Amino acid sequence: MLKFLKQVGDYAKETVQAARYIGQGLSVTFDHMRRRPITVQYPYEKLIPGERFRGRIHFEFDKCIACEVCVRVCPINLPVVDWEYDKASKKKKLNHYSIDFGVCIFCGNCVEFCPTNCLSMTEEYELATYDRHELNYDNVALGRLPYKVTDDPMVTPLRELVYLPKGVLEPHGLPADAPRAGARPEDLVEQAEK
Ligand code: SF4
Ligand code: SF4
Repeated sequence: MLKFLKQVGDYAKETVQAARYIGQGLSVTFDHMRRRPITVQYPYEKLIPGERFRGRIHFEFDKCIACEVCVRVCPINLPVVDWEYDKASKKKKLNHYSIDFGVCIFCGNCVEFCPTNCLSMTEEYELATYDRHELNYDNVALGRLPYKVTDDPMVTPLRELVYLPKGVLEPHGLPADAPRAGARPEDLVEQAEK
């Protein structure tokens, strides 16, 4: 009988202990519910891509000298440079240029090595289409001005973590002129020159 009562007592004690742990866990859960969610409500809110973000490539037809360096440095020899030799001017004449973004890995090698800087990476990353052939951008599509998160009146742009002021971890409700943490490259140059 005594043994049975002891067992009941132990069981009750363990039940109370378990209930206390559950209570502690729930209090932490409820405490999290009092905080503001840090979710970015895409597509109404979008993060501003970083300065070196590698989005869709932009191409300037008039600057290209058809040297094909971009093709040679591309891991998959992707850019299509269609040129012909112009006997009159004794120069290469560019006819068409295209990059298929369904195949591109956005490594930025072509941009890095282009001798005339006619290629650049934009901050545009919303390229989805229903047809993969529409991802093959010709020189007209590549020359289009990129979409900018900060220029879209329907979108609230939010800063990424590294562009927030020192000690701030939340981009919501931040004034547009709040200084970012750390120095910009031009600030570092200025400091070094002093
Ligand atoms: S970003 Fe990279 S993969 Fe895409 S075209 Fe340029 S070099 Fe090729
Ligand atoms: S590297 Fe630049 S200049 Fe040369 S073909 Fe490619 S885009 Fe044109």
